[in-house]
Amino acid sequence: MSENLYKAKDYKSELKPIWCPGCGDYGVVSSIQQALASIGVPPHKVAFISGIGCSSRIPGYTTAYGFNTVHGRALPVATGVKIGNPELTVLAAGGDGDGFSIGGGHVGHAVRRNLDMTYIVMDNRIYGLTKGQAGPTTLPGTKSVTTPYGISEQPVNPLLHVLAFGAGFVAMGGNHDLKQLTALIEAGIRYKGFAFIDVFSQCVTYGQPEDLTKALKDRAKPLEDAGHDASNKLEAYRIAELYGKEFWTGIIYQDKGREEYCDMQARLRETAIKEDSYPRDKVFERNFLVK
Ligand code: SF4
Repeated sequence: MSENLYKAKDYKSELKPIWCPGCGDYGVVSSIQQALASIGVPPHKVAFISGIGCSSRIPGYTTAYGFNTVHGRALPVATGVKIGNPELTVLAAGGDGDGFSIGGGHVGHAVRRNLDMTYIVMDNRIYGLTKGQAGPTTLPGTKSVTTPYGISEQPVNPLLHVLAFGAGFVAMGGNHDLKQLTALIEAGIRYKGFAFIDVFSQCVTYGQPEDLTKALKDRAKPLEDAGHDASNKLEAYRIAELYGKEFWTGIIYQDKGREEYCDMQARLRETAIKEDSYPRDKVFERNFLVK
């Protein structure tokens, strides 16, 4: 990748977003465009995959190759894209409902596979597109059209969820601080492995007051200012445990030593070839590693 050949506008498509005025997703897409420009990856070498929901419209607002898939299925499709062409910079995105309810079964397995891709969840703790039902990250007691007396289920904690599956890069940001968010997305894309970024992105139409931009600004506690050591996994668990109670932002956990999936596969194949003199033309045959 060459540096600074591209500007953020080079990643901006001609489609005009149809999000509600003030939706936090406007800021998220501009941060993604800025992060890609900082890295300098050509737009035609980026594949952007999403599920279904307000935030899943996001690939269409960029000049990357995009695929707006079916609900909760951004990660399986992104996995296929990356394995099919490891040279691509692969981004996956969607909402909290898309990722942690409908597609909940896929997240953990994408994490443990550890392909080099960046998964950005626009977390507004509500289903916006379908008019304000409680979602998997909605906090207990929240009243919504489907929970008129307040939700009684415990919320999914996205940060703990991905850490429990062994995520090597976990970050938390918000649309209240786009400079920080851009830096987090850039760091996630540069990370060699599966990077997870949870982004509080305000839903001005159905969101709760404590998730709106002004409140996020007041509540945000940058981890950098607190001297957080992102290589400390136990500390990362402690921060992640506070999801929904306190709003810590920044890189929560980063494992720089974890081997990425394609690198590991290449190493395993090279080892097998060396040990068994396995013919090169048979390397891609199914089960060639099975003795
Ligand atoms: Fe954004 Fe909420 Fe409007 Fe959807 S309903 S576009 S999430 S503000």
